[in-house]
Amino acid sequence: MTSSVSSQRFLARTLAEPERPASLTETLADGTQLALLDVGVLRIRPPQAGARRVLISCGIHGNETAPMEMVDQLVSEIFSGQLQVKNELLLVIGNPPAAIAERRFVEENLNRLFSGKHAQSQAKEARRAAQLEALTSEFFLGGDEPRLHYDLHTAIRGSYIEKFAVYPYLHGQPWSEPQLGFLEQAGIEAVLLSNQPSGTYSYFSSRAFGADAFTIELGKVRKFGDNDMRRFAPMTESLRGVISGVEQFAAERQEIKIFAVVEEVIKRSENFKLHIPDDAKNFTEYAAGALLASDDGYEYRTQRDGERFVFPITNVPPGQRAMLVVAPVTDLTELNEA
Ligand SMILES: [Zn+2]
Repeated sequence: MTSSVSSQRFLARTLAEPERPASLTETLADGTQLALLDVGVLRIRPPQAGARRVLISCGIHGNETAPMEMVDQLVSEIFSGQLQVKNELLLVIGNPPAAIAERRFVEENLNRLFSGKHAQSQAKEARRAAQLEALTSEFFLGGDEPRLHYDLHTAIRGSYIEKFAVYPYLHGQPWSEPQLGFLEQAGIEAVLLSNQPSGTYSYFSSRAFGADAFTIELGKVRKFGDNDMRRFAPMTESLRGVISGVEQFAAERQEIKIFAVVEEVIKRSENFKLHIPDDAKNFTEYAAGALLASDDGYEYRTQRDGERFVFPITNVPPGQRAMLVVAPVTDLTELNEA
């Protein structure tokens, strides 16, 4: 007997079989088709073609449990018929072996390995990045509908701004105002505009397929079962709207804060040092001239008042990003035209 996807929760099943490639399909009463394309990769096809292609990913970092629980909840609602799928949907649990180990990654940070960067790595995550690229490509190229990708994360460090999104570098293309309005409605307080290409999953979807794609940080990392899911309710509800085709992306941006990345601080050598307290929160604000990082022949001092740091980390290999420095943007139009 073939086991059914619905006989077990999606997340539990994925974590129970982290290595075994699965091929299971199922059709719901209303004609919605589900297919488990690979470990943690579930494609859901509505009976009628939808207006959009929607990729929702989580667990790209294995210890970021809340987004995995959110996606699991959405899958359960789809199975029970409570949530109707009207758009083509791909749901991804990014790094199941790391989730089992309760670690950010097993051998290498998966979210630095997309856009072909996996070719230079032998890590387990490199194989996964290549596999996710192939499945993502097949999904997005399956139709001409506008493409969306929400890559859900939680952060290690506390933050003055709890919920924020990273907008991948767009190579001069304009930022999507409807998406900024949508993110604000979903409870996102700030957006960081990237200033260069990267190895993230969201940059890959944006660059290779023109998707409106975002890395979304939803709060602090906790263990499975320790998350207060009420904190994630606005985003979960907004994703329900996208999945069910109710979301029309008509909300205007009101108060969401916009920051531009002004410096990507790279760790150059083992002498790299961050000059910030270990427990300092993301988005800590500095006056001009503050020393934030130093290395052999390099230091970063804030260039103007109001600069803030995000994602500081020292235990990465030389050559990798150790911190982002961001500054508030007052006029997005001006930046768009710059
Ligand atoms: Zn993450």
